[in-house]
Amino acid sequence: MGHIDGTALDSLRTALRGPVIAPGDAEYDESRTLYNAMIDRRPAALAQCVDVADVRTTLAFAQDEGLDLAVRGGGHSGPGLCLIEDGLTLDLSPMRWVRVDPEARTAQVGGGAQLGDLDHATHTFGLGVPAGIMSTTGVGGLTLGGGHGYLTRAHGLTIDSLTGADVVLADGTFVTASETEHPDLFWALRGGGGNFGVVTSFTYRLHPVDTVGVGVTVWPVERTAEVLRWYRDFLPAAPDDLYGFFALLAVPPAPPFPEEIHGQKMCGVVWCYTGDPASGRMEETLSAVNDPAAPAFHFTSPMPYPVLQTMFDGLIPKGLQWYWRGDFFDAISDEAIEVHAKYGQNLPTGLSTMHLYPVDGAAHRVAPDATPWAYRDATWSGVIAGIDPDPANAGLIRQWCVDYWTELHPHSMGGAYVNFLGESEEPDRVRSTYRGTYDRLAAAKHTYDPDNFFRANQNIAPAAA
Ligand code: FAD
Repeated sequence: MGHIDGTALDSLRTALRGPVIAPGDAEYDESRTLYNAMIDRRPAALAQCVDVADVRTTLAFAQDEGLDLAVRGGGHSGPGLCLIEDGLTLDLSPMRWVRVDPEARTAQVGGGAQLGDLDHATHTFGLGVPAGIMSTTGVGGLTLGGGHGYLTRAHGLTIDSLTGADVVLADGTFVTASETEHPDLFWALRGGGGNFGVVTSFTYRLHPVDTVGVGVTVWPVERTAEVLRWYRDFLPAAPDDLYGFFALLAVPPAPPFPEEIHGQKMCGVVWCYTGDPASGRMEETLSAVNDPAAPAFHFTSPMPYPVLQTMFDGLIPKGLQWYWRGDFFDAISDEAIEVHAKYGQNLPTGLSTMHLYPVDGAAHRVAPDATPWAYRDATWSGVIAGIDPDPANAGLIRQWCVDYWTELHPHSMGGAYVNFLGESEEPDRVRSTYRGTYDRLAAAKHTYDPDNFFRANQNIAPAAA
């Protein structure tokens, strides 16, 4: 396993419309580079598929040659699930097309698109899909794991807006999954990850989203306990059109932050208001931010939604070292606040951070068994991320993250958002992420991938026959 002989490689190159890149090719190193530079793996080849035919040919080739297969969407997975040593990567990155139907308010999106592609195409019609908070994240992995971001309180998770998907299954069959076609597959795709097939296109219901109100508020990190006690009450009680994720951070050395606080450790909230930014309601709601905790800096501005989505692109570009761990929280206990206050003071590097992303509001109004997202009762999806450009700091950021997580985990709900799991975590973490929906996922896995061909993911073992 792992080596592809020259004749076989030539046959794959002839059969595909997209390029096939192998060791020795000039593009090889660039094409195996992921967002997380901590991942350094050398696949036997990468097949860059341009259409469904390329996907089917690549799957059949991997099976004929006995190669392990990974599927790459946007390449943002923390543990680098889209790349395996000596395996074949089916790379969907050429499939970044988006087709919007403004009348029907739907968008069909290629399986390798990035969030920025989707935002760009829908924004011209004043429409949008709830998704993540960075434009370079892949639509594929994010949607298949659930997807949360600035629009979640107003419009739900990404999977709550998914209405269909085109999928190539392990046996090469091409199917459409929706509420009426292969509904068990459609159910499993809305959170079950890349376990069930290669999704060549996603179809979403669109929501009216145009210019939004954006805000950033920061307080000195020493006030973390006081601010978190305020935030844990304020945010869940705020109207659904106000979203605000809590962060521990070092202030980025860039506008809008004043120079005197650049580099300082702070806690803060990034706000997004999806109501009319000209109505004054955002400022009215946020006036509570000055009382009781007067911030070191508070900024609000209207912003086109796709601009908000690119706000962090420059700060955390591709090529940094990343190590992350997550957990769901239904409450932020006093004990958890003590842990946050401690580790906020000890951020190991300037980019390392902790975020608490709200997953309440509209996301709570979906039945717990409607999708595999088993934590409809969680209020926050938390992630602790050690980040730094220097590979020499890989151990430092990893250790900080593991220590922080180990102390915080007992104050969580027990499971984490599947897209915030790392590779080296215990296997039962996948089970705890899916709680009561795991067995139904295992049954769908048995139906659609009984041999567990798609296993470069947070894996769900097929149920026994
Ligand atoms: P990849 O590494 O390409 O794929 C990840 C997994 O999905 C792999 O198992 C892969 O096989 C599978 N996969 C991808 N596409 C397909 C497809 N078309 N068909 C079948 N399987 C596929 N998540 C949020 O919900 N909200 C956020 O705001 C958010 N912010 C993030 C910010 C950063 C900087 C990063 C690095 C990640 C963020 N995430 C967020 C997590 C993100 O959802 C996951 O990392 C996700 O896996 C990324 O998907 P991808 O397609 O880019 O990844």
